[in-house]
Amino acid sequence: MSVHNIPFIEMPKEQLRQLDAKNFYFGKSFTNYMLEADYINGEWTNAVIKKFEPLQLDPSSAVLHYGQSIFEGIKAYKSATDQVVIFRPQENYKRFNISADRMQMPAVPEWLFMDGMKQLIKIEQDWIPKEADHSLYIRPFMIATDPFIGVRPSALYKFMIILGPAGPYNVEAMKILIEKNYTRATPGGVGFAKNGGNYGASLYPVVLAQKKGYDQVLWTDALEHKYVEEVGMMNVMFVIDGKVITPSLERGTVLKGVTRDSAITLLREMGYTVEERNLSIDEIVAAHKSGKLEEVFGVGTAAVVSFISTLADGDYVMDFDLTKSEVAPKLKKKLNDIRTGVEVDDHGWLVKI
Ligand SMILES: *Cc1c(COP(=O)(O)O)cnc(C)c1O
Repeated sequence: MSVHNIPFIEMPKEQLRQLDAKNFYFGKSFTNYMLEADYINGEWTNAVIKKFEPLQLDPSSAVLHYGQSIFEGIKAYKSATDQVVIFRPQENYKRFNISADRMQMPAVPEWLFMDGMKQLIKIEQDWIPKEADHSLYIRPFMIATDPFIGVRPSALYKFMIILGPAGPYNVEAMKILIEKNYTRATPGGVGFAKNGGNYGASLYPVVLAQKKGYDQVLWTDALEHKYVEEVGMMNVMFVIDGKVITPSLERGTVLKGVTRDSAITLLREMGYTVEERNLSIDEIVAAHKSGKLEEVFGVGTAAVVSFISTLADGDYVMDFDLTKSEVAPKLKKKLNDIRTGVEVDDHGWLVKI
């Protein structure tokens, strides 16, 4: 397949900023260039890679009022031999269009998402920090730009990709509160989509939990607050009596994480039994009481594997001795070794640039 070449407007050399590997902030520091394209009259057009700069938006733009907005999060890495790889971007591409469909937004073609991303990363590869646990975070997103205040699907959209260096994330083990009052996602809702509104709606309960000394909440099902779902922007895994258990996806209330899928595949290959099913708070507490709840950890692109040191169900606080964790550190190392090339990428997960 030929690779689509998107027009590239180069900046004057003297304006180009360099990565300062010691002074960047994940989520705040971005590279010199971004990709931008518009959806007009039913097709994607005006694709360009150009200077990272503020957008001009009409104040009546649909996204500013009714929230048609979706995004993805992907990482690129640089190996010891300077090989640049992206981790499973095809999965994010598929999920982006699933999110688009649910939000009544147009699908983005592969040439724009995949080829555009590769072209942009190739230009910006000097921005990929080489230090351990560092990467280049890739943020594709789409917003509704129709200048019209009215609740209907926008006629116009903008697709963009921005990039920024990322260091280790959630390095400290996390303290998690099980959330039984507020809800992230409901059956029939948009929990499976990465649309902006889901995250805006999550802030209030998360801040309440932070005031109580926790880092994040563990969401439970909307109907009964009985079954666990996920943590912040991570899927969650429990190790109970040697088995790995993670909430299943069929209700559409849990985001189908790429890291979750990678973890399930690798853990099974490492010989663990992995169950995707409903997991109740009662079962978790009972396992803890009988000494069988061994580990709890999060999996997601941002932090890859996040250790959880405390999980609280109201006043019932479960603490974990992380020095005894086995599954989470092994999984973290495995994922790390695959993406740094220490282990062979048997699954074809790495896309080389
Ligand atoms: C992005 C996200 C995840 C993790 O998905 P990955 O593809 O592994 O990054 C999990 N839960 C939610 C709610 C998310 O937004």
